[in-house]
Amino acid sequence: HYRCRSAFKLLEIDEKFKILKPGCSVIDCGASPGAWSQVAVQRVNSAGTNTEIPIGFVIGVDLLRIAPLDGAHFLSFCDITARATQTQLQELLPAARADVILSDMAPNASGFRELDHERVVTMCLSVVDLAESVLQPGGSLVCKYWDGGQAHQVQGRLAHAFREVRTMKPKASRKESSELFFIARFFKKK
Ligand code: SAM
Repeated sequence: HYRCRSAFKLLEIDEKFKILKPGCSVIDCGASPGAWSQVAVQRVNSAGTNTEIPIGFVIGVDLLRIAPLDGAHFLSFCDITARATQTQLQELLPAARADVILSDMAPNASGFRELDHERVVTMCLSVVDLAESVLQPGGSLVCKYWDGGQAHQVQGRLAHAFREVRTMKPKASRKESSELFFIARFFKKK
């Protein structure tokens, strides 16, 4: 009953890295149709389903419409790279901070591998910018990218801002796609 099969990628990543814990505040970048947010809501208990454990918070953002989901706040028709969106996120997040930033964002593929790679790198860098303005010290980031010659730019920024940076190709990700994920943990205090 997930809205999209992409849920299984996040489940695999979270099995391995244990990023989503009850009580966490999560930003889901590029959340539509909402499968990653479904996983996040369950794992951080933001719908308050379990009254014995801490209640988390999930906020999803997408350029497209995201259908409502219990336990999540959505900003539909919003560009994550826009300053106004970042301000809105800070206003809505408890204590204006997130423990986890997820990004499964992808630009519309042009079919030109090099161009798509460059666009995805730009997108990842804006997710790192967001992390630098809203992530709690000790926080984590999961960010999709397409492999290529500029990925080291993102890796470098992450390595500077986090104590640990790993990459992962979930089994649920199609073998023929160049899609990979950065998993960065233990955000350093500025
Ligand atoms: N993780 C989602 C799920 O499990 O349902 C699927 C995400 S889909 C692969 C990528 C999404 O990123 C698209 O819905 C797209 O509209 C969104 N996106 C791309 N660029 C964006 C931007 N600048 N701001 C917000 N969302 C963006």
